[in-house]
Amino acid sequence: MNVLVLNAGSSSLKFQLIATDLDRIMENDDQRLCRGEIDHLGKEAEFTVHIGEYEHKKKEEILDLHAAVEKLLRWLTSKETPAGVDAIGHRVVHGGELFSESALITDDVLKGIQECVELAPLHNPNNIDGILAARKAFGPELPQVAVFDTAFHHTLPKHAYIYAIPYELYEKHRIRRYGFHGTSHRYVAHRYRQLCSVSREQTNIITLHLGNGCSAAAIKGGYSVDTSMGMTPLEGLVMGTRCGDIDPSLVSVIAKEEKLACSDVELLLNTRSGLLGVSGISNDMRELQDALHSDPDSRGGLAIDIFCHRARKYIGGFLAAMAGADAVIFTGGIGEHSPFIRWRICQGLQCAGLQLDHNANEKTVGKEGRISTEDSTLAAFCIPTDEELLIARDTVRCILGQPHPS
Ligand code: ADP
Repeated sequence: MNVLVLNAGSSSLKFQLIATDLDRIMENDDQRLCRGEIDHLGKEAEFTVHIGEYEHKKKEEILDLHAAVEKLLRWLTSKETPAGVDAIGHRVVHGGELFSESALITDDVLKGIQECVELAPLHNPNNIDGILAARKAFGPELPQVAVFDTAFHHTLPKHAYIYAIPYELYEKHRIRRYGFHGTSHRYVAHRYRQLCSVSREQTNIITLHLGNGCSAAAIKGGYSVDTSMGMTPLEGLVMGTRCGDIDPSLVSVIAKEEKLACSDVELLLNTRSGLLGVSGISNDMRELQDALHSDPDSRGGLAIDIFCHRARKYIGGFLAAMAGADAVIFTGGIGEHSPFIRWRICQGLQCAGLQLDHNANEKTVGKEGRISTEDSTLAAFCIPTDEELLIARDTVRCILGQPHPS
């Protein structure tokens, strides 16, 4: 079955076409047929496709998500690249309390995703647009499945998801921790199980997704029991441009001192903070590492210090919250590609039994592997994430009515 995986954003549409079915899932034999994105939607949109080593790039007018999906359909069915699409899997950011697992999209499911718009006003509308555009372009008969970023964290206990604010706010407005990056945390937990030949019940790990957005999850007995992102993706670890945890009073202090509206402060905390805000250089970890290299006193170095300190604190906190873990898993662009940042985060965790194997750490870049010593009682692994693959697999399982355990 060819599954088209779509990730619809405000100005871009990312896609992958993956051949998979129940046998291929069992054998780990899914095949990525192509991947790409339509970026900067507008008069000069950029259409990029990768098929194996081959890259096709073109600038053209693609005004909105509907035009983007139609363009994709035309391209997929064009003569040079004939590839049928049997189903579509959509990344949907917020499933609120309604969706604890992936769902075959019906009118009722679409209504549910719509109900979650107020929880994710910046994301869910684009995801809905992507679904409607795909229905129009590919026809209403083609099965479509929604895979939610929040679903994996549905197992959080109440003490981990209720904020210590008046309880009525949860009842009235659904204000609580939801957590995000669930598909990524779930994928790497699944790979950890395969790599270490352990059962779900034996899966006691802390996963760190360190990309542009960053989050940590405490996974106990195979289920998410705590996570760093909150009601929105702003809470928790330091990220490329997001602040992560701060004193909530800062919102009114910054509003008053900078004469900003509350919504502008929120924008500042989302888009001008984190690594970028502290360093004044970039939100790209590679550039900060370069800056630190050429000037140890640069603010790039400070941003890295804060980033690693916060990540280490979360590992320590989760170790206590889940009464110990067997491994820490690094994933995401930074987690997969920066031995330096992994080393910095792990410094000090010897007290928890984590001994990094420096040779293995240096060598394990962009690939799976254990990066701690054999006698380390808290192991560390690098496991590249693959959210699209999990979305494609859930799509197959949903369509065939098979269980798709979180
Ligand atoms: P997203 O969260 O948007 O999916 P990624 O997971 O691709 O992003 O992660 C992007 C981040 O990964 C950027 O901060 C980038 O600097 C970082 N990154 C990628 N390669 C490296 C590398 N070799 N060393 C350090 N950081 C890297």
